[in-house]
Amino acid sequence: MRIRRLPEGTVNRIAAGEVVERPASVVKELVENSIDAGATQIDVAFRGGGRDLIRVTDDGSGMDAADLALSFERHATSKLAGDDLIDIQTLGFRGEALASIGAVARMTITSRTATGDSAYSVSINGGVATELRPAPLSRGTEIEVCDLFYATPARLKFLKSDRSETAEAADVVRRLGFAHPHVGFSFATEERRLIDVAPEETSGTRVRRLIGAEFMDNAIAISAAHEGVSVAGYAGLPTYSRGHSARQFLFVNGRPVRDRLLAGAVRGAYADLMARGRFPAILLFVTCPPQSVDVNVHPAKAEVRFRDGGLIRGLIVSSVRRAFAAGAVTGNASVARQVAESFRATSPTGGFAEAQSAFDIGAPSSPPLADDFPETSHPLGAARGQIHGNYIVAQTADGMVLVDQHAAHERLVYERLKRERLDGGIAVQPLLVPEVVDLDSVEAERIVANRDLLAQSGLAVESFGEGAVIVREIPAALAGASIASVIRDLAAELAGEGTVTSLDERRDHILATIACHNSVRAGRKLRPEEMNALLREMEVTPNSGQCNHGRPTYVELKLADIERLFGRR
Ligand code: ADP
Ligand code: MG
Repeated sequence: MRIRRLPEGTVNRIAAGEVVERPASVVKELVENSIDAGATQIDVAFRGGGRDLIRVTDDGSGMDAADLALSFERHATSKLAGDDLIDIQTLGFRGEALASIGAVARMTITSRTATGDSAYSVSINGGVATELRPAPLSRGTEIEVCDLFYATPARLKFLKSDRSETAEAADVVRRLGFAHPHVGFSFATEERRLIDVAPEETSGTRVRRLIGAEFMDNAIAISAAHEGVSVAGYAGLPTYSRGHSARQFLFVNGRPVRDRLLAGAVRGAYADLMARGRFPAILLFVTCPPQSVDVNVHPAKAEVRFRDGGLIRGLIVSSVRRAFAAGAVTGNASVARQVAESFRATSPTGGFAEAQSAFDIGAPSSPPLADDFPETSHPLGAARGQIHGNYIVAQTADGMVLVDQHAAHERLVYERLKRERLDGGIAVQPLLVPEVVDLDSVEAERIVANRDLLAQSGLAVESFGEGAVIVREIPAALAGASIASVIRDLAAELAGEGTVTSLDERRDHILATIACHNSVRAGRKLRPEEMNALLREMEVTPNSGQCNHGRPTYVELKLADIERLFGRR
């Protein structure tokens, strides 16, 4: 074995693997460069899902010939004045984006400074650069990236459909657009303009324009500041939650991030207000001194480290909680907790196997009537009544269970849908009047991109012009549910899926979301036979101890616990 130094081209291609994961990352790096160059208008053209062409044009500072010649070298940057990484004020600083993109695509950079006598242009194809030549351009910079990943074909295989890649890239521009209201942005494919916003006076108008009125109507403005750190933005109402985190927009000093500390703080802020597994919609700008945050922890700069994470977390939690305090839910929490502590959630899986053999349950198809029903023969007992339109109280051999009828039903529908799909197809129901659902353009793209998967789940959906889709057929299980909210949640669900999610997982997620919207039994009065049928179905359905969001579908209270509550033990 011989150790050798890798040629520069190879080094660049290796590094490109981290910086340029997909077309959206190219858009991110180029648009960030334009923002750093002080542009007031940035236009993105995007063809063939980003594989054919990505062109970013700006009216920023531009580069003279000498800078242009250096710009695509690895670790060449104008953004680090000193040699430390303590005070980073720009989005870029690593000096590797242009080198990385040039290593895996055909890139042409054309640029001109305000005082330059001419624009210059240079092409880098698979890491090999041409001579600089004069070119026509009145000002700013234009970067064209063609045949992305032609030099690293392995990466091409991991790309998703054109529409999915387009949706992700548009999302990148939108996120940067939130954080830079004074800059105008456009994003256009060969077919249409997905984003087009002029420079705005205030952050509020930009947010409203990019996120839509619906979010704003369901959100409360938040703000807090302490020791040079400030938190501002819009917190979605708990009832406006989503099944996925795609509607969480988090920024640190103008940089869109997917940061665990921030996401955890958001979760913490909503902990008492929202069911586990639901994600609040939120837009949050954190501003802090550049020295107090390390942005150099991730090649794509998507994560950061705070010097004082506790302070940031505290600010987020307190500002969100304060915003909701006025309308907060109260009630005698301490008594409720005491009782709840005595209630024991049976382990969702496994528990039943034992219980079943112990009780030797009968066939589920024979729902007995409530009163003379021998509760001892079934783990979930005999239904004795329904309270508050949603909770079934059942008596078991040695205690009682309380079933959340809606949560349980959700799980049963999900498992039934999965079974139907395996057994030759999900029962569908055509809509007499097809329903048009308004979304934002990115969400609409995502839905249409996943048309086939949705069809396999019983949802026939098509594009319906800018930012809208039309639904023609729904799973029979969804009859009576709000189709618009199903589609919106599906858009969010699909957004969160990385390139690694398997087809099967994605199908299951879609079915889970559908099941979650099935409203047949929510809040419906059930007859005793129906309650018992539900209990029996739960006993034979896998995973029925938890709903699709991980919450328990029932809790059990042993007679001994009840006696303890009343001081009898
Ligand atoms: P970084 O942004 O980390 O400095 P890049 O590889 O993205 O590294 O860019 C290298 C350099 O090229 C930048 O530091 C900047 O000086 C110059 N540059 C890149 N894009 C532009 C642009 N749109 N306008 C002006 N200068 C640019
Ligand atoms: Mg850069």
